[in-house]
Amino acid sequence: MKKFELMTLPYAQDALEPVISNETIAFHHGMHLAGYVNNLNAMLEGSLLAGLPLEEIVCKAEDGMLNNAGQILNHNMYFEQFSGNPKSAPTGNLAEAIARDFGSFEAFKEEFVKKGATLFGSGWVWLSADKDGKLVITQETNAANPIQKGLKPLLTFDVWEHAYYLDYQNRRADHLAALWQIIDWEVIKKRYNG
Ligand code: MN
Repeated sequence: MKKFELMTLPYAQDALEPVISNETIAFHHGMHLAGYVNNLNAMLEGSLLAGLPLEEIVCKAEDGMLNNAGQILNHNMYFEQFSGNPKSAPTGNLAEAIARDFGSFEAFKEEFVKKGATLFGSGWVWLSADKDGKLVITQETNAANPIQKGLKPLLTFDVWEHAYYLDYQNRRADHLAALWQIIDWEVIKKRYNG
């Protein structure tokens, strides 16, 4: 059986400092995400879902397999959207859609951070597009992903404590507000148009 592999970061482990420290990336990518990958590979041994694409496993699995598959999909999208030298604002049709659906880029960022800061417990805040291209912000608990609701996920902030506690302790909202500095909007636009 083909096994899932830990995704390779598209930047050096310390490239996101000071927004996310080298140490946080080392634990978050090298320990937490690697653990989810190992768990899922073990759970897929002898499973009917073995060999399916990750997105299909997320839509079909239950319980522990769903949690581990969801966390892999979520973290792959999370780590891939950052850059130490990002395109710092949306352009083109994505910029137009954000202005249309949220009023302005600033208003969107404020609403997104608020939804992340007020999510109780562990989870993820997402920007997604619905089937008509309309943009929506959703709070997803634990390992959930918007594809389970038929949405196309575009951007996500991880609000599990392991994502920020070494660098920000209990200051989740400060961590989320700082993440805008390293979001590469070229990646988000490719997802929107993909
Ligand atoms: Mn995480």
